[in-house]
Amino acid sequence: MGRDDRVAHDPRCAGVTINVSHTICDNDSVKSLANILSLAALAIAALAAPAVQAHDHGQGAAQHAHTHGVVALDVAVDAQTITLQLEAPLESLVGFERAPRTAAERQRVDAAVAQLRAGDRLFRLDPAARCVLKDVDLQSPAIGLGKDGKGHDPKHDHGEDSHADLDATYTFACDAAAQARFVELPLFDAFPRIRSVAGQVAAPQGQFKRTLGRTDRRLGWGR
Ligand SMILES: [Zn+2]
Repeated sequence: MGRDDRVAHDPRCAGVTINVSHTICDNDSVKSLANILSLAALAIAALAAPAVQAHDHGQGAAQHAHTHGVVALDVAVDAQTITLQLEAPLESLVGFERAPRTAAERQRVDAAVAQLRAGDRLFRLDPAARCVLKDVDLQSPAIGLGKDGKGHDPKHDHGEDSHADLDATYTFACDAAAQARFVELPLFDAFPRIRSVAGQVAAPQGQFKRTLGRTDRRLGWGR
């Protein structure tokens, strides 16, 4: 142990340790290890690339990698319509990313879908815009929501290791959409696994980007 301790503190050694008991100290070994690691990284990258493509079922952004707990919310303000598009990892809504397997899981999915359909309780638009929720569209092939067509291969999405999203589009009809300056997000209360919302707004006042955490629930724009 005494020797390893001394070696580990040698500045030339860079602290490269394998299996705790072996400390590599001579520079050639460190270099060859670095070579092996970079070759391994290349090999992993080569393996990973086709896998990513395999999960892109021609749906573009819908199947990109995601971060659990982080959802994207796009807000588009038009003359008489405000459209909200939510893209969420299924994990952040129901706790898993595949078809439900038990009655309890089925219940969790059903409860989440019911909450997601009630869009005006997840998103409260600025009352100045006088909006009414007109349409809700939910897409998540992994749990059988939406159009599960066009080359979708269930074997891809339903494995333990794959990710799956839920995409929701909410269309609000508004008397004075351009008057809207914020949307509040009770979404955080409905889904405790959501840690942050990456918001993007396209409004007559311009384009805005803002990330909200659980304690900051108002996505505002155009003051
Ligand atoms: Zn995931």
